[in-house]
Amino acid sequence: MEKKGILLVVSGFSGAGKGTLMKELLRRHDNYALSVSATTRAPREGEEEGREYFFKTREEFEQMIAKGQLIEYASYVGNYYGTPRAYVEEQLFKGRDVVLEIEIQGARKVKERFPDTVLLFVSPPSAKELRRRLTERGTESREVIENRLKRAVEEAQGIEDYDYFVINDDLNACVEHVHQIVQCERSRTGRSREQIQSIREELKTFSK
Ligand code: 5GP
Repeated sequence: MEKKGILLVVSGFSGAGKGTLMKELLRRHDNYALSVSATTRAPREGEEEGREYFFKTREEFEQMIAKGQLIEYASYVGNYYGTPRAYVEEQLFKGRDVVLEIEIQGARKVKERFPDTVLLFVSPPSAKELRRRLTERGTESREVIENRLKRAVEEAQGIEDYDYFVINDDLNACVEHVHQIVQCERSRTGRSREQIQSIREELKTFSK
């Protein structure tokens, strides 16, 4: 398959503000498409089927795995999460930049499979701020929050596997920064092989 768009994987500790950041990126710039994951976790208040996630039972999720319908999947704090393949491939093929907001194990799998994926890690300015954001969201029990903070300690060990690390302090600045990263990625020589070849050919005709 010829892929034209950029595949951008965004990870970060739960509570880093990735969701808001990505929503804002999509609202301001129209070349992005956000992949909606499948999960076995229960919907939070205000979440809608097909908008935040496709909510699945364990059996349904395991069938998706068996049928090869997921690009990657991982288990996170007791639930499955996975990226449906069809939408991502279709959007990349159309030339749109596809954003996956997934955790670290999934990010690694995507990079192995598609090495030109851009991996970006979003962090809050401090651990204290992370805890505050998780608590203020008010959507999780204390136990879930504690588990998510524990998971953050593990995830922090893997940050160097990412291509970029950005701090989400000022939302506005962070959105534009992420957009700039994607624009720069577009100019990598490895993504312009056809144009490079064509200019080479043209130059040859001039020097004859
Ligand atoms: P939450 O329950 O807060 O919505 O998500 C928990 C974690 O799962 C977050 O770190 C989120 O980025 C990650 N996640 C969401 N969708 C996927 C997915 O499709 N694959 C993987 N590997 N992780 C996901």
